Amino acid sequence: MTAVIDPQATLETPLLADNVQLIGGEWVPAASGETLEVINPANREVLSRIPRGAAADVDAAVQAAERALPGWRDTNATARAGLLFRWAALVEENAEVLDQLESRDVGRPHWGPSPLAGMIRFIAGQTDKVQGLSLPTYSPDVLGFTLREPYGVVGAIIPWNAPGPMFTNEVAAAIAAGNTIVIKPAEDAPLAPLALAQLAMDAGIPAGVINVVTGLGAEAGAAIPNHPGIRRVGFTGSPATGSTVMEACARNLIPLHLELGGKSPQVIFPDADLATAAQAIATGITLNTGQICAAGSRVVVHRSIHQEVVERLATAMQQVTVGPWHQKVNMGPLINGKQHGRVMGYIEAGRDGGADLVLGGDTPSGEDFGEGYFVNPTLFDNVSPDMKIAQEEIFGPVLSVIPVDDEQEAIEVANGVDYGLVASVWTEDVGTAVRMSRALQAGQVGVNNALGAGVIGGPFGGYKSSGFGRTMGADSVLNWTQTKTVSLRGATRPVN
Ligand code: NAD
Repeated sequence: MTAVIDPQATLETPLLADNVQLIGGEWVPAASGETLEVINPANREVLSRIPRGAAADVDAAVQAAERALPGWRDTNATARAGLLFRWAALVEENAEVLDQLESRDVGRPHWGPSPLAGMIRFIAGQTDKVQGLSLPTYSPDVLGFTLREPYGVVGAIIPWNAPGPMFTNEVAAAIAAGNTIVIKPAEDAPLAPLALAQLAMDAGIPAGVINVVTGLGAEAGAAIPNHPGIRRVGFTGSPATGSTVMEACARNLIPLHLELGGKSPQVIFPDADLATAAQAIATGITLNTGQICAAGSRVVVHRSIHQEVVERLATAMQQVTVGPWHQKVNMGPLINGKQHGRVMGYIEAGRDGGADLVLGGDTPSGEDFGEGYFVNPTLFDNVSPDMKIAQEEIFGPVLSVIPVDDEQEAIEVANGVDYGLVASVWTEDVGTAVRMSRALQAGQVGVNNALGAGVIGGPFGGYKSSGFGRTMGADSVLNWTQTKTVSLRGATRPVN
């Protein structure tokens, strides 16, 4: 395999310093002085160290965000937009460095042009278009209208699988609305978020508007929704942690949105373009080593084309090359040992449950794979809908094929899980596409499209246990505001 980047080369960047987090515009260690190692999942070597932040650090960050709030909230919205646009420009200039940081941290090979600057620009464009309503009144002496105001100091907790997009998505929208924020990146992949925060400061976003506390979920993470100074939360991660975060928000009576997991179905009808469907599904389940919440992990296929689909999927998945991120491969390792154990456990459950293992199910061996958390693309056939591998999110490159007899059964199987994040339908028939688009219980439905790609500004979020609230759409900024109704009494008739 050809090395495209020298993996030994230190990533010399002024955007990152070892063992610091951002509080009130200062790069500081944890109050406790403790640190955590950030590991390269391809070889288990230490990439960097980060502060092991905890409640004291979150408290300092909330105080810094409170100090920054009045000035930021009262900065006119066009000026705030300008700063976000400048941030986007710097992110674009540093796209390669950011991409490499994310690759090293997550272990994924380069996967195309960075979406980050575009994501910030999309939100920046909304910043000075946050509008209230004028309201009818009972008397001409009264004007009625609504104001959309920030919550104040808000919090966010993000996962490791796509740290750059998760960071920009939450932070840009929250601060565009005039909030100041305390965010905790995942301990497994904090480097791109820290660099993005430095770029935001370089762009002129004032100190204390964005605060990044690094550390473990149970320590720094838990301290965010439990802090009485936090007025709203955005959480992306697993349903179990989402539920814990929501309990803390309930105790403090603050709102939140939850972006949780998925078990997304790919429903294939006999009239579909099978070659396109199989290729897109194979790419979708192996992209980022299957560690994508939207990944289509269940193929629900009409029995009449079942064999052909399995053969096409096996061929496409066999072509997926596996290796360390710096090589020209399609798929890197899983993020850590825990995730590797989890994925291998599901593969064993598939075998024990009676599914037919068509491809993979093992780890690759050889010099390139060494100590890394690699697993081969894995395809199971004749999976029954109630099996563990058909019900639970694996978050790995494991695809389950479930044959069905008709459209009604396809709908029942597709909807027969706790999750409802994304669903895809493969058909050339408009009628089938319309019926399925309505019937599928998911926040996003793709027709002849595996990951819901191709749409600009589509609101993103889940049905059922995949969470609630929507990000990334036209309401991204509005979601971080609360509505105030103002009734303004004045004398409309001159008083003599
Ligand atoms: P996770 O829930 O273990 O961790 C997510 C974040 O929460 C991390 O920053 C972690 O440190 C923190 N955390 C852990 N325990 C906490 C606690 N008690 N209190 C507060 N914070 C805590 O999830 P993960 O393994 O990092 O990510 C994988 C999950 O994320 C999958 O289920 C995946 O589907 C989901 N995900 C969803 C979306 C979406 O948009 N719907 C996007 C990406 C990932």
